[in-house]
Amino acid sequence: MKMSQLFTRTRKEAPADEQSKNAQLLIRAGYVYKEMAGVYTFLPLGLRVIDKISSIIKSEMDRIGGVQMKNSVLQKKDAWEKTGRWDDEIVDVWFKTKLQNGTELRLAFTHEEAVTNLMKDFISSYKDLPAYPYDIRTMFRNETRAKSGLMRGREFYWKALYSFSKDEEEHNAFYEKIKQAYINIFERVGLGDKTFLTFASGGTFSKYSHEFQTVSDAGEDIIYIDYDKNLAVNKEVYTDEVLADLGLSKAELKEEKAIEVGNIFSLNTKFSEPIGLRYKNEEGKEVPVIMGSYGIGIGRLMGTIVEELSDEKGIVWPKSVAPFDLHLISLAKNEEAEDLMRELEKAGFEVLFDDREDVSAGEKFADADLMGLPFRVLVSQKSLDAGGYEIKSRSQDDTQILDKEELLDYLKKVYEMEI
Ligand code: ATP
Ligand code: MG
Repeated sequence: MKMSQLFTRTRKEAPADEQSKNAQLLIRAGYVYKEMAGVYTFLPLGLRVIDKISSIIKSEMDRIGGVQMKNSVLQKKDAWEKTGRWDDEIVDVWFKTKLQNGTELRLAFTHEEAVTNLMKDFISSYKDLPAYPYDIRTMFRNETRAKSGLMRGREFYWKALYSFSKDEEEHNAFYEKIKQAYINIFERVGLGDKTFLTFASGGTFSKYSHEFQTVSDAGEDIIYIDYDKNLAVNKEVYTDEVLADLGLSKAELKEEKAIEVGNIFSLNTKFSEPIGLRYKNEEGKEVPVIMGSYGIGIGRLMGTIVEELSDEKGIVWPKSVAPFDLHLISLAKNEEAEDLMRELEKAGFEVLFDDREDVSAGEKFADADLMGLPFRVLVSQKSLDAGGYEIKSRSQDDTQILDKEELLDYLKKVYEMEI
């Protein structure tokens, strides 16, 4: 894509009321537009990142048997009253609205009730189980605090999967599979080193749930990490009894601020019982379905990547989620660079070509650093005289001159290594 086609542009300053580093950088680099606190529009570049993260999540969910669907956002009260979550005393983040005839509707802040209820149409026998529907979509929460940019949105992207199993054994086997899928996801988006499987509060039906917490100064949670075991405990549940339970040694735990990028939860019959989702088991007896719920904040993950993988010049995207593979800059004849763009695209690379003619070299370099694509390829009279094109990785300072064939080989090698 040519930059002249992009209607967005970079800006020197973020809006004065934007406090978070992730949103400041994403706004300045032209990825998102701030509609209001906690509400961001995803511009073309930002949408490409959301799509990349989503497709990584999708591939890991599909691999373990997930099937994608799209839940409705508008909800009526029936199923939610059965679980008590229509009540403002229990849930304080509902956005509310009404039909013309006065019927109260609300915007889903999660979908356990909705999916449990609809599954009554499809699950009646043990032969219908297990089922693993998931949804990647916008969610709405009337959050009181929305100061963390993309990390706490009032409108935000997430992935939620709900599992429906025959019994605890089948549930536990899936729980272990999705735990590993989550580890793969955080590794693939470049946060593997900083993200810890964290014991958190389990609610009514299980002692613990698991969160995936990424260590960051921008985090709202406090966790205690055992680096030897690669495990952590959320401060919320941290007691001497928990330390003993998990075999973590107290002296070695390190306290860190962290961002909850995802969580996995055993729900047992918490939703199936009140909503009446039951099936006939092999003995012909009617029993409630065993459930779990598994979330990932996609926008929050994007914000976390920016918080953790940026430097004083701007964003440094991992190759797996960057909106384009490389930033092509032309300081010489645009035709030469355009030919190169076509060849790179033919070879399968996604190229952002800075074809702007009235912009200085310094500005183009600064914009490339701010936008953070993994590689910068420069076509200038100097590079052509030296025998080709100058390539530079966003995360390193050194540059090298390669001819067309060498450049393609180099990039193919780098991107294949990634797979
Ligand atoms: P938190 O404790 O941060 O409020 P939560 O426990 O309410 O999150 P869930 O309802 O379990 O979160 O949602 C699943 C995932 O969705 C969370 O792990 C988080 O990554 C993401 N998420 C939750 N709320 C938001 C939000 N307001 N903005 C962006 N992402 C969110
Ligand atoms: Mg939480």
